[in-house]
Amino acid sequence: MSSSALSSTSSHGSRGAPHIILLPSAGMGHLVPFTHLAVALFAGHGCDISLVTALPTVSSAESSHIAALYAAFPNIRQLDLRLVPFDASSEFPGADPFYVRYEALRRSAPLLLGPLLAGAGASALVADIALASVAIPVARELHVPCFVFFTASATMFSFKAYFPTYLDAVGAGHGVGDVDVPGVYQIPSSSVPQALHDPDNIFTRQFVANGRALVTADGLLVNAFHAMEPEAVEALQGGSVVSGLPPVFAVGPLMPVNDLRETREAAQEQGDYRAWLDEQPPRSVVYVSFGSRKALPKDQINELAAGLEACGHRFLWVVKGAVVDRDDAGELSELLGEGFLRRVQGRGLVTKSWVEQEEVLRHPAVALFVSHCGWNSVTESASNGVPVLAWPRFADQRVNARVVARAGLGVWAEQWSWEGEEAVVRAEEIAELVMEAMGDDGMAEKAANVREAASRAVADGGTSYRSMAAFVRRCTAWRRCIRPCQLNPPQYT
Ligand code: UDP
Repeated sequence: MSSSALSSTSSHGSRGAPHIILLPSAGMGHLVPFTHLAVALFAGHGCDISLVTALPTVSSAESSHIAALYAAFPNIRQLDLRLVPFDASSEFPGADPFYVRYEALRRSAPLLLGPLLAGAGASALVADIALASVAIPVARELHVPCFVFFTASATMFSFKAYFPTYLDAVGAGHGVGDVDVPGVYQIPSSSVPQALHDPDNIFTRQFVANGRALVTADGLLVNAFHAMEPEAVEALQGGSVVSGLPPVFAVGPLMPVNDLRETREAAQEQGDYRAWLDEQPPRSVVYVSFGSRKALPKDQINELAAGLEACGHRFLWVVKGAVVDRDDAGELSELLGEGFLRRVQGRGLVTKSWVEQEEVLRHPAVALFVSHCGWNSVTESASNGVPVLAWPRFADQRVNARVVARAGLGVWAEQWSWEGEEAVVRAEEIAELVMEAMGDDGMAEKAANVREAASRAVADGGTSYRSMAAFVRRCTAWRRCIRPCQLNPPQYT
């Protein structure tokens, strides 16, 4: 194609609106912010949006989320991607299924993405960070501008952008030590995602390739806002992290503008937690969740159960027994024991089902979030002013936990172990910190301030609102062949 991709109008599009193709990778942690971006661009900024979906999805949570999006927004177009077959079990035995899916997408993109972009008449592509290094060359070939969306924190983004430079400087064969991200701050070796300590890990290879490719993108979007991570946003935009980065648009925290229909249908099936929350006094419940894609080890689950029992507070605990929800067939009683469930009945609700977390965090009964600090969980807490007791377990979560503590959104239990470390956090420590956090009015006040800052950022005229508008103007300018160099995001330096 080339020029036709730039000039054609999408079949469902309004004249002049850019047609933006969104290409997420895998897992709810990536899909949720992509769907929020889709809705913000479609409903808030009048863009035409197509969302690429690699089928079948890894988890059932992803398929129901996608179905809900299309039910609620039938004018957002679904572009299915049938992946090229790839036998991961021989090449990457035992690898995380979500990283394997990234790899499958990365191998399919050079073959499938070009025809898909050309056929759709794209004005711009927004590719997930996990696919950056394979998506950018395809888009470039077609003269379609390619933006990369980083779905986690700006601080982690700065680390990622700088990491290849760090590796080049320390040289091959050296372990990963503390990483001093220029203009941001030092990320200690103990907070570096576990996989990155192994240069041959499938995730490390993707991480480094994508980090190197950032300078070749036409722009970078991040689900973060300036007031929460000023150092990182300013360093990314000001060029101190690595030179040559394209414009960085900090557009977060992306929020749902509309509850999805599936949510309401699911409510009828899984309504027990909603009804239970409605019966609890204001600011009395500890919400406990470690995200959509990791299970705690059994002995840690037992300690957490005992800690929640001992803390004396009401709690809603979402327990996962397996990495992928489709494999999570065991009964709660097998995991936790009948005795525990009986003893906490009424005071604590434990579920293995999907809960609508954003709604839980909005509920007036919820006072504290014991969270693994997946970035979406952090932004959802920030948007709702719910203080976080951060217990990172994996990947970027320690970096995010530091952001939580620095921003005043909560506290980070820094000594608590994460995946790969043997120590089990004991029930007494858990109970003690939960009690402390529940009694800390100052922390609740600071979290409320973060909520105010988040809502100012996304409101008309706020930093994130202006960044999003600048991004849309850039896509529109490309569509009209205007040189977009004057359409950079607002700068804070
Ligand atoms: N989530 C949810 N209900 C659940 C578990 C997770 O709604 O029972 C959502 C959560 O609100 C967030 C996403 O799934 O939007 C998980 O992303 P996050 O970055 O917090 O963690 P990850 O699951 O990627 O580790």
